[in-house]
Amino acid sequence: MTVIGHIINGEQVNSHGRTQAVFNPATGSSERSVQLADADTVSQAISAASAAFPAWRNTPPLKRARVMYRLKELLERHADKICELVTDEHGKVLNDAMGELQRGIENVEYATAAPELLKGEHSKNAGPAIDAWSEFQPLGVVAAITPFNFPAMVPLWMWPMAVVCGNCVVLKPSERAPSVVKFIVELAHEAGLPKGVLNLINGDKEAVDTLLTDQRVQAVSFVGSTPIAEYVYQEGSRHGKRVQALGGAKNHAIVMPDADMENAVSSLIGAAFGSCGERCMAISVAVAVGGAAADQLVAGLSAAMTKIKTGTGRDNSNDMGPLITSAHRDKVRQFVDDGVSEGATLVVDGRALSVADHPDGFFMGPCLFDHVTPSMRIYREEIFGPVLCVLRAESLEEAMNLINDHEFGNGTCIFTRDGEAARYFSDHILVGMVGVNVPLPVPMAFHSFGGWKRSLFGDLSAYGPDAVRFYTRRKTITQRWPSSGVREGAQFTFPS
Ligand code: NAD
Repeated sequence: MTVIGHIINGEQVNSHGRTQAVFNPATGSSERSVQLADADTVSQAISAASAAFPAWRNTPPLKRARVMYRLKELLERHADKICELVTDEHGKVLNDAMGELQRGIENVEYATAAPELLKGEHSKNAGPAIDAWSEFQPLGVVAAITPFNFPAMVPLWMWPMAVVCGNCVVLKPSERAPSVVKFIVELAHEAGLPKGVLNLINGDKEAVDTLLTDQRVQAVSFVGSTPIAEYVYQEGSRHGKRVQALGGAKNHAIVMPDADMENAVSSLIGAAFGSCGERCMAISVAVAVGGAAADQLVAGLSAAMTKIKTGTGRDNSNDMGPLITSAHRDKVRQFVDDGVSEGATLVVDGRALSVADHPDGFFMGPCLFDHVTPSMRIYREEIFGPVLCVLRAESLEEAMNLINDHEFGNGTCIFTRDGEAARYFSDHILVGMVGVNVPLPVPMAFHSFGGWKRSLFGDLSAYGPDAVRFYTRRKTITQRWPSSGVREGAQFTFPS
């Protein structure tokens, strides 16, 4: 049994006390366990980050960026191993893990632009012989807390930008898929990141609570489910920290009667069932406008779903791997049971699926519901599994009202050939990331990622330009020199 510990000040550190089993969801077996840090261990990591900060904040951004160039190379060189670690603990298919890693690498590439991004603003002669400039100073120690479903990518959304901005980081990944994060933190040190700049703590609520309450932590980036995001936002803010907390989702796609139906169906199949539906940008609701479009959509989806191949993520010929734990699989099955009892029509039922050779894996087949209504639990709550709900609306306005009334506002998409409808939709929909015939409108690393409503607590989105704002504090300096007026004597009024 491999026991996964922590990395503090560049050294492998073990905590004593609680551990948790880490499962391979495809086999249902556990060959690794992860240590759950106690408050003292977390405090040790914060101390290491605090000690590293003075030298790191004064390291030229160009030198900080060079670490990212080397890290990018290492991530590419070790891509196969990284993907295997993702697949063995998360379950997603290897090719999908490679896509996840690629999105993570793009954030590392963006972080290499630190010298440009941190240049600041300058006004010569802001007043007579007075110069003024704004610079973006690092915050100090920042915490990054991440979910299980993108164990390589989401940490890479956070810490590369945090460190190139001059901060030191304590990273607390998901305890359910810890190995890949640990390997990448080791690569970051191999790339030349000084000891203490990036510290890795494995743990659960106890570790998170310590990060939220320790006065030395200046800011917290969080990605996870909405109840925990809200808690992290409230607790962190209450303790005087800057917090961005990204939460859950219920992403709708609207299918208009004029849509290219074949394209809409194949796009929805990938967006709903890729990664077994365990994506915060997964489409979990399709709203068909008009009865004919709905019938065509449901027929197309159910036909396409018969071809979805579910099995171990190690086999790239599979489309869908297992869910993360048996408990989560049971919860998703329960949602489907509830949908049936609430009166939705279960068109495709994947509850009983089993995978030959992997009888103990946490597998479940894809499910499709038709005639779902807004009051049903399967519509209101995030399921985070391979379940797609179809609702029927009479007009674009009615479909948009469903989305705008929903508590989440992460991603959405419209399938249409009508440019005017698409423009109206993108302008008025209350969602942070919008696709037009693009089912997963995940912003590239040079934009920023964030939902609206209860999908994001805080003001700034993750990565991209918002990350520079989140991980720095603006300071504005106004300067003049004696020959240009300091000796004129006291002034009691603002100069006019
Ligand atoms: P989670 O909320 O269970 O866990 C996220 C992090 O919070 C983990 O590091 C975990 O250790 C910690 N945590 C869990 N319970 C806690 C508690 N009671 N107190 C303090 N910390 C706690 O989320 P998950 O199951 O790992 O990830 C799936 C969720 O994340 C889904 O809801 C998904 O939509 C969301 N997600 C959102 C985005 C986004 O960008 N909006 C991206 C990925 C995932």
